[in-house]
Amino acid sequence: MTEQASGRSFGARLRADVEQTKADVERGVEALRRDLEQTKAHLTGGRAGADLDQTAGDTVLQALGREPIPQDGAPNPEPEAVRLDPEEALPHCTECEQALVNEEACWVCVEGHGHAAIYSVATGLIGPVAVHAVQTAAEEATEADGRACPFCAGAMVVIDLEWDETDTSALLHQGGPQRGHAQLEACTVDRLIWFDRESADVIPPP
Ligand SMILES: [Zn+2]
Ligand SMILES: [Zn+2]
Repeated sequence: MTEQASGRSFGARLRADVEQTKADVERGVEALRRDLEQTKAHLTGGRAGADLDQTAGDTVLQALGREPIPQDGAPNPEPEAVRLDPEEALPHCTECEQALVNEEACWVCVEGHGHAAIYSVATGLIGPVAVHAVQTAAEEATEADGRACPFCAGAMVVIDLEWDETDTSALLHQGGPQRGHAQLEACTVDRLIWFDRESADVIPPP
């Protein structure tokens, strides 16, 4: 309970509860009334009731307050266009445009063009210090002239990552060279890093 709420008198809280309950009941009654109008319209072929585009799902969501109830007995609005092709919603390889597959929380191109990892996942690949360095460089960059982000298609920021024996990102050294260099790309919108084929030679995918 918030301080404000607990600071209110019992009477005030009770009144607020009663008002809320009344609103809940009114919403439920209105949703059911719309359901009845729709059923009548359906059963009489439109001679009675009103065609409100009211589905059983609308009735439940409206009663719960999760879907607005149109004013003055108006029909429910057309549902917003949905993307029917789930493939469309998947991230795509920035080179071959094939849908990336999810492997160990990374998004990997099956053709081997590279893989994308959000910052938190990339931490497991190159270590938190390196991710922080990439993130900072990406946010401070004045221009983005890399490939298109697999998720949002915006241009990614190209980042040169260098490390040597003194680097605290021990993960970069695992099975790789003690000192090295890789060119990565980062999307500041989706907060992810794209490891292309070349960088994958130095920083192996998961
Ligand atoms: Zn590819
Ligand atoms: Zn993006």
